[in-house]
Amino acid sequence: MDHEDFDVIVVGAGFAGMYLLHRFRQMGMTARAFETGSDVGGTWYWNRYPGARVDVESMQYSYQFDEELQQEWEWSERYSPQPEILRYAQHVADRFDLRRDIQFNTRVVAAHFDDQAVNWKITTDDGKQTRSRFFVLAVGCLSSFNKPDIPGLDDFSGNSYFTGQWPHTPVDFSGQNVAVIGTGSTAMQSSVEIAKQAKSLTVFQRTPNFSIPAHNRPQDPEYVAYFKANYPELRAKAKTVYGGLLDDFDERLAVETPREEVEAVLEARWKKGGLTFLGGFADMLYDHRANIIAADFVRDKIRSIVEDPETAELLCPTNIIGGKRLCVDSGYYKMFNLPHVQLVDIAGTPIERITPEGILRGGEVLKFDSIVYATGFDAITGSYLRIDIRGRNGRALKDHWEGGPRTYIGMAVAGFPNMFTVTGPGSPSVLTNMLPSIEMSVEWMTEAIDTMRRKQKRVIEATPQAEADWVAHVNDVAKGSLRSTVKSWYNGGNIGDKPSVFMPYIGGLPAYVRKCDEVVENDYRGFELL
Ligand code: FAD
Ligand code: NAP
Repeated sequence: MDHEDFDVIVVGAGFAGMYLLHRFRQMGMTARAFETGSDVGGTWYWNRYPGARVDVESMQYSYQFDEELQQEWEWSERYSPQPEILRYAQHVADRFDLRRDIQFNTRVVAAHFDDQAVNWKITTDDGKQTRSRFFVLAVGCLSSFNKPDIPGLDDFSGNSYFTGQWPHTPVDFSGQNVAVIGTGSTAMQSSVEIAKQAKSLTVFQRTPNFSIPAHNRPQDPEYVAYFKANYPELRAKAKTVYGGLLDDFDERLAVETPREEVEAVLEARWKKGGLTFLGGFADMLYDHRANIIAADFVRDKIRSIVEDPETAELLCPTNIIGGKRLCVDSGYYKMFNLPHVQLVDIAGTPIERITPEGILRGGEVLKFDSIVYATGFDAITGSYLRIDIRGRNGRALKDHWEGGPRTYIGMAVAGFPNMFTVTGPGSPSVLTNMLPSIEMSVEWMTEAIDTMRRKQKRVIEATPQAEADWVAHVNDVAKGSLRSTVKSWYNGGNIGDKPSVFMPYIGGLPAYVRKCDEVVENDYRGFELL
């Protein structure tokens, strides 16, 4: 049987998959989403660890496609916590009746393009096959948890927790000796909360990270009223900003500004808190001299917060600030002043193995009741390559991406007709406020599909030349940034065997949107419509 069961099959029911379903329904198309989890929310469904919250202000981390929705929803905090964001996703699903088009508890394991039937055959882990004309991957950039291959991981007789697959029932660490492995955003958020409960907390650090205080607080009703009254202008303005995130940015260069003035700006931004700490100057991520000023500033802050000088020095990162994504914390450095919290530096002496009692390192077993793995993600490409995706002539996506991901404008792949990738590799995605980027991406591809239907075309496919040119452009712009000089999950550096390629498009959201618009204005330049 090669008939089409649906016009479109979507993989994933996070914010991207949910908006896709809404759009396709509005277009009168039949769509089915498959989702591994048992409900909507994606990131916010899986990452239920204590302390999980946004690092983009909640007034901006929300959908804007429906005016009533953005007016009716109330965020309680400047950076809302995971349970509230999950409730928001559930509210959206209820409001637009999305669940009827989602099959939960179902993983897509294979997707093969059928050259003869000109459609996609999707295989799910319940053994069923479903066909559709279009195949859209809304699988997320940070959705494949990186379970580290530390020997003996399964031997531990206590409790093991993986932050990206956190239990759905509350975890109580009271009276326990707890280990946290990792020092990224997730570890910083969870450690602070675990330390409030545990008898002892030991953080295992391989690489220290820069973090800026969140200064989280309850929402100010006046601020909310101002935002809601001015949403159209504020959202439009955010789209003109590099990261799609509204804040005060300055085009001045730190290297051309007197040092005292640079320090004053950094101090003001530290007091304000948040992800846009480096936004006071345009050269922070492009000029080593500027970057060092900001890095020294934060290192001095760490030394002033952490009382034990040896611990403070261990917590001071030595690499580029902002090279890895900045963390935004709520008392992480201060936590190390608590008598029951200790830092174990594993840079020089790594963890040898997990034993039934705890963690073996330097010939000594440190005993724990629970171990929390906050070890990150096989980011950006991980969830694509865990599916056996094959395009024309059975070509596997994993072969096509052997040297790193290749897309045209982050949304299409040559040789994989009628397949779209939301916030895919080669799009600004994780370098931006993700909700507006998701909306932009979804709107672009659904409009492309609508255009095809009007023109009575069956196939849309990126040309190999357009893809090659886009990949070259993505690599070119990455070279200019200090970010590309640091091993991180942006460039596969956190996963042993991944190709070293800077995967997101670093040219910024406005430049990216302009390029996507130009594709449309030039009659879908770089695509073949058949
Ligand atoms: P996801 O939310 O990741 O959803 C993808 C879904 O696809 C998942 O539910 C997954 O189960 C499903 N899926 C994947 N593969 C398959 C398969 N083969 N079969 C079936 N289902 C599949 N971004 C920001 O802009 N601001 C923030 O403050 C922020 N905070 C974050 C905090 C954490 C802890 C993490 C991990 C990420 C954060 N992000 C943040 C990024 C976040 O991922 C995005 O903001 C956004 O939620 C992504 O939505 P999505 O729908 O694209 O992907
Ligand atoms: P991450 O930044 O990749 O951090 C993973 C940590 O685990 C790193 O410290 C890493 O050390 C360590 N690690 C990995 N494998 C290890 C091993 N085998 N042994 C010892 N240590 C190991 O992952 P994350 O913290 O989950 O964050 C990923 C991204 O998700 C963030 O950058 C952000 O975009 C998003 N996020 C956002 C928020 C938020 O504030 N809203 C919260 C959480 C996550 P090395 O550095 O040495 O590799």
